[in-house]
Amino acid sequence: MEKKKLLGMTPGQLREVAAECGLPPFAAKQIARRLYVNRARSIDEMTELSKRGREMLAASYCVGLSAPKAEARSADGTVKCLFEGKGGRDVEAVYIPDRERATLCVSSQAGCKMGCRFCMTGRQGFHGNLEPSDIINQIFSIPQSESLTNIVFMGMGEPLDNLDAVLTSIEVLTAPWGLGWSPKRITVSSIGKLAELKRLLDETKVHVAISVHAPFSDERAELMPVEKVWPVAEVIELLRGYDFAHQRRLTLEYIVWRGLNDDLRHADALARLVRGVDCRVNLIRYHSLPDGDLQTASEQTMTAFRDRLNSHGVTATIRASRGEDIQAACGMLAGEAKRQEGE
Ligand code: SF4
Repeated sequence: MEKKKLLGMTPGQLREVAAECGLPPFAAKQIARRLYVNRARSIDEMTELSKRGREMLAASYCVGLSAPKAEARSADGTVKCLFEGKGGRDVEAVYIPDRERATLCVSSQAGCKMGCRFCMTGRQGFHGNLEPSDIINQIFSIPQSESLTNIVFMGMGEPLDNLDAVLTSIEVLTAPWGLGWSPKRITVSSIGKLAELKRLLDETKVHVAISVHAPFSDERAELMPVEKVWPVAEVIELLRGYDFAHQRRLTLEYIVWRGLNDDLRHADALARLVRGVDCRVNLIRYHSLPDGDLQTASEQTMTAFRDRLNSHGVTATIRASRGEDIQAACGMLAGEAKRQEGE
């Protein structure tokens, strides 16, 4: 029988585990401390528990840490790590060192349902939601784990399509019994699934990034089918009701494609769309996919687009591209399909 993973469990869930294993309720706190503060790699390390208690726990449970199966290193220091995923498809996390910051971009799903035209993950279809243990494992099991300063939910999958697991992972990262991080060190990126976005905003204080990519509804729908269900105008309307000037930050992501969304008419429309919202716009270079028809805009065009937004009073920056040589940049994460037995 496969053992259940303790990693990613909250004290409430650990109390149920303790009861099931005949341990006193206070053992839940001891287990949580060993898991998240001491980063125990095995139940044997939980020496506060009696030997018998550890045996009872280990009969059905394990810590659940599992190291990356493979790594790829970029010339710029970015490292892409491959992890066990779901439904025959592995997932990737990307470690991005940048001076005093060390960010991990984590995946929340194997594949994705959203089908964005420009995204390698979207091309795979959906293979399953990751559990909180799978998400926390990406953070805990990389060699650079202890030096991480930031987590971004921008890897494979739409985080708001697996919101419960993402919220539990955020709780582990921010709760006093967990890592005790400030929510300001965490960003969740989304296409803007409306009800779930509201829940994320109401239940956490993490930073939010929204993939806009086109200010005109018909053009966005061509790139992102979700526009037909959750129009970006409604997403922006929802965001207007929240304060992004003080405790948390709102970033709008905008990949700039040559001849598609890169002229000043688009910049003007984007500025109109976000008027009065405290946000900054991240302009992103695109990395063409195999057989893809989309091309990145020129540097000159991107600079003109940025300057036009700035002239409207919208803070806009061009995001530095990282890990392109190892297919770790925006839209390039593909995971790996597992070989079927007998193949
Ligand atoms: S861009 Fe994000 S939401 Fe769209 S298909 Fe890719 S992973 Fe899914």
